Amino acid sequence: MPFNQIALAKYRYYRLALAAGMGLLTLILTLGIRIYEQTRVINQDQERVARHTIQKLETLLQPANAVSFDKLIQSGQNCSTQQPVLQQVVARLQTLRAIAVVRNGKILCSSLSGTVNYDFNQLLPQLALGASHLQLRASDNMSNAIPTLVLWRAQASDKSSGLLFVYNIGVLANFLLEPQPPYASSIVLNVMNSSLEYDKNQIAPSDALDQTPILSSSSNNYDFSVSIYGNDAATLAWSELPAHLPLSLLISLLTAFAIYLLSGSRISLAYPISHAISHREFQVYCQPIIDSADGRCVGVETLMRWKNRRQEWVSPDVFIPLAEQHGLIISLTRYLLKQVSGNLALFPARPDFYISINVAAQHFDDMVIVDDIRQLWLSAAPALSLMLELTERTRLQELSTEQISALKEMGVMLAIDDFGTGHSSLSYLKTLNPDVLKIDRAFTASIGTDAINATVTDTIITLAQRLNLKLIAEGVETREQAEYLRKREVDSLQGYYFARPMPIDIFPLWLERYEKADFSVSSL
Ligand code: C2E
Ligand code: CA
Ligand code: CA
Repeated sequence: MPFNQIALAKYRYYRLALAAGMGLLTLILTLGIRIYEQTRVINQDQERVARHTIQKLETLLQPANAVSFDKLIQSGQNCSTQQPVLQQVVARLQTLRAIAVVRNGKILCSSLSGTVNYDFNQLLPQLALGASHLQLRASDNMSNAIPTLVLWRAQASDKSSGLLFVYNIGVLANFLLEPQPPYASSIVLNVMNSSLEYDKNQIAPSDALDQTPILSSSSNNYDFSVSIYGNDAATLAWSELPAHLPLSLLISLLTAFAIYLLSGSRISLAYPISHAISHREFQVYCQPIIDSADGRCVGVETLMRWKNRRQEWVSPDVFIPLAEQHGLIISLTRYLLKQVSGNLALFPARPDFYISINVAAQHFDDMVIVDDIRQLWLSAAPALSLMLELTERTRLQELSTEQISALKEMGVMLAIDDFGTGHSSLSYLKTLNPDVLKIDRAFTASIGTDAINATVTDTIITLAQRLNLKLIAEGVETREQAEYLRKREVDSLQGYYFARPMPIDIFPLWLERYEKADFSVSSL
């Protein structure tokens, strides 16, 4: 049966679904990671923009610290002598618009206007009350209100005296608060409840701004903060998504393709077998083994049958090697052992009747077979015997003597299946000490022909008899073969000539009919 084709057709769906699923998962994951990563980077960039803006503003205000109030005052008691000194400071600091002296709550001298007399409290109440050291203020300049930033440095000893530094912030804002698209579409300076935005050239109350900032950051050294407006990091990351799409698509397509290829052997073949074990799609068949001397049925060989979900028979020649390849043969043999143990009543309950099961190489690793027989076979306290058929593919030479003696102690017989077809040397016959050799059906088929195989058949028979081993000939299909083998004193015969493999529950019926017939002579 072209199982591979059926399997491929049937399970191509699973492979495609798995490949597509994994591809999609990879796409989602790569894009997800990309967006997450991008969001983090943009967020950092936005914080960096805010920090950088704060630094620029702090650098602007910093030089004012170096201007000494006492020196200015010492330059002369009246403004006419102070003003040139003040003007020198303004010229030196460049970014300053004006500097003014405050003494005892009065603004008395300005670098711009010379002698003045303003009430500090009235003009700049927030600074005078000590609520802040900075204030945004619209200053009249030729009837135009221009935004200024006023920094107040009070005397340590007398809080009502000090210096006022007035910055032309409206102009400075053009480079201090310059937007940084796409991370910051606008940057706003906040001082107390007032704000100044890039390019606006006018001071606005903070609550008049209609948007909420994506982040705000405060200066550690001065009473101001900076707010960043624009799209938040996640929105920006999503908007960059199309740029990442081609690479992510390529990665996920490659993943899907690799999964499709890799799952080729795993899914399409291993999956249906394990599914079939769990859904009990396997059935145990048995084929009688006949004593060649008296024609009595002395045992049965169990053989697995698989009727898959489509109700198609799958040949054991196909699924057994696959089960071996995919590490499922042990489960399959356990399933068979359980079925047989649970149906012991179907077979004659006498120790000279045996049930023979085929066991794969893997089952002999680490004494697994010994444990399984103990648990699944001996636990059922069978009155009949058990025989294990090992093929020469079983790496017979690797079987440990410990395992062999454990099996023999449990009364389990060992048979070498398909004898003569393998590649191993005969040396293992000594170590393994089998009870039975099973002549492969190819040799049985050669009986009566003058093919070279017929000679081999004879040689195998002679060899087994010399070694005192019991012989079972497989694939006996004709009366001629049966008679020849009986004459050559081959102990037991198995083949379509006597019976085809049958479901185990049919066996009692078959046996009853077989024993009623005069099998001992006429059947041979
Ligand atoms: P095998 O152990 O050599 O089993 C004998 C095979 O020969 C069976 O094929 C049986 O149906 C077939 N046969 C019996 N009498 C005749 C006959 O007169 N003429 C011909 N042409 N064939 C005959 P089946 O059932 O298809 O099994 C094929 C192989 O699959 C088995 O070969 C065995 O190696 C393996 N197998 C089957 N069941 C199991 C199992 O439960 N476990 C393991 N490990 N292998 C199994
Ligand atoms: Ca066999
Ligand atoms: Ca065989």
